[in-house]
Amino acid sequence: MFRKVLIANRGEIALRIIWACKELGIKTVAVHSDVDIDSLHVRFADENICIGPAPSRDSYLNITNLIAAAEISNVDGIHPGYGFLSESAEFAQVCQACNITFIGPSPQTIALMGNKAEAKKTMKAAGVPILPGSDGPVATVDEAKAIAAEVGYPIILKASAGGGGKGMRVVNSEGEMELAFQMAGSEAASAFGNGDLYLEKYLEAPRHIEIQILGDQFGNVIHLFERECSIQRRHQKLIEESPSPALTPMLRAEMGDTAVKGAQAVGYATVGTMEFLYDKDRFYFMEMNTRIQVEHPVTENVTGVDLVKAQIMAAAGEKMQWKQKDIKLTGHSMECRINAEDPHRFTPSPGRITTFHSPGGPGVRVDTAAYAGYFVSPHYDSLLAKLIVRGNTRKDSILRMKRSLESFVVEGIKTNISMHLKIMEDEDFQAGRLSTRFMDRFTN
Ligand code: ADP
Repeated sequence: MFRKVLIANRGEIALRIIWACKELGIKTVAVHSDVDIDSLHVRFADENICIGPAPSRDSYLNITNLIAAAEISNVDGIHPGYGFLSESAEFAQVCQACNITFIGPSPQTIALMGNKAEAKKTMKAAGVPILPGSDGPVATVDEAKAIAAEVGYPIILKASAGGGGKGMRVVNSEGEMELAFQMAGSEAASAFGNGDLYLEKYLEAPRHIEIQILGDQFGNVIHLFERECSIQRRHQKLIEESPSPALTPMLRAEMGDTAVKGAQAVGYATVGTMEFLYDKDRFYFMEMNTRIQVEHPVTENVTGVDLVKAQIMAAAGEKMQWKQKDIKLTGHSMECRINAEDPHRFTPSPGRITTFHSPGGPGVRVDTAAYAGYFVSPHYDSLLAKLIVRGNTRKDSILRMKRSLESFVVEGIKTNISMHLKIMEDEDFQAGRLSTRFMDRFTN
C-alpha cells in the first residue's frame, strides 16, 4: 500500500480522496494555487504545498511544479482526481519516469482511450456496438460529406481529442457540412491542440447511460452497473442516477457484460467508465473515461463499494476483493450537481459565500469543499457541491432530493438549486421519461 499520496487536484474531489486515504492509513499531500490557500483540501491534508498562481495552466496543470512538489514531499503515489491532468498520458508518463505511481491507467491506455476516434475503432474490434460513422478521423470536407451521405443525416462531428462537450457540431444536411466542419475543427484545435474530427450518426433524443468498470493488475475486470446521466445542459451532466429507469434486468446485464469485454480488450486495471448512448432498446459505445468520475457516489450508494478506495488499492497492486457475482444493486441513488451559477442564464456566479447550510438526515450525502466565508474563485469549475441521496426506490430518492434541496441554503452567490427543484417536480422526470434533450425546455 502507498505510504503517502499527493493529490493533484482541488475542491470536493481532493477532499474525497483525502477521506479515502485516511481510511486506508495513507498520508496525504495537498497542492494548491495561491488563491486556494483557504481551501478545505489544504486544511485537511497532512501536508500542503503551493504550486503556483491562480490560472490552472500555471498550477493544477503545471506538470513541472506538481512533480517538484511530489519530490519535495517524497510521495509514492499521485492521485489526479478528475479534470485537470487526470486524462493526461504525458503526466502519467512523467510520474512513471519519476518512480511515482500514477493512480490511474497506464500512459498507453490513457492515450488510446483519449483519442475518441481510435477508442471507437478499438471497441468495435472488441465486439462493442458503436454508432455508424467514419472509421477514425475524417481528413476533408468531401470525405465527411461522402460518409454522411452513406450514414444519413443528421450526423454529429466530434473532436477526436474531445472532452467536456467541446468541438461537437450537429449537421442536418449536406449544405451545413462545410461551415460546421471548419467551425468544429478550429474549436477542437484551439481547445485540445488537435483539430482532428470524426463523424457519427446523430441520435435525436437518446439517453446517456454509462457503465462503471473496475479492474485490477491481475486481469480481473468487473462492472458496477449503470448510471443514467441524460439530464445535461450543453453536453454537461447535471443529474445522475442509478439504476437507470430505462433498463430491464436483461439489458442491464448485456450492457455490463459488453462494457467488461471492452475494458478487458485494453487490459484495463483501474476504475473507468464506458459511456453509451441508448436509443430504442439499443446501446452504442461513445467513449471511455479513464478516471474516477464526478458522479461516482451514486454507484457507491447502490453497490456499497468505495470506488476511490478500490482505485487506490488497484493502483497499489492489490487483488480485487470482489467477483462479479458479489456486486449487487440495491435501492436507488441520485445526484444533483449544485453549481455556482445563475439558475436562469447559467452564467458562473463567483464570489464570497456568506451562509452555507447543507442538508443531512437519512440517506443524504453532500460532497463539497464549500463553507460559509469561502470565496468561489472565477478561475475554476463552477461545481460547488454534489448533493447525493439514496432511497429504496426512485420515488423515495426524488422525495428525499426535494426535501434536501429545499433545506440547502447558500447565500452570497447564486446557485442552480432552484432549477434542480423544478426538475424534481417535472412530470416527465418523475415518470423517468428522460433524454439528453430533456433540458431544452428549461433553457429555451
Ligand atoms: P465529451 O467527451 O465532450 O463529453 P461525448 O462524446 O461524451 O463528449 O458526448 C457528450 C454528449 O453529447 C452525450 O452525452 C450526448 O448528449 C451528446 N452526443 C454525443 N454523441 C452523440 C450522438 N451521436 N448523437 C446524439 N447525441 C450525442
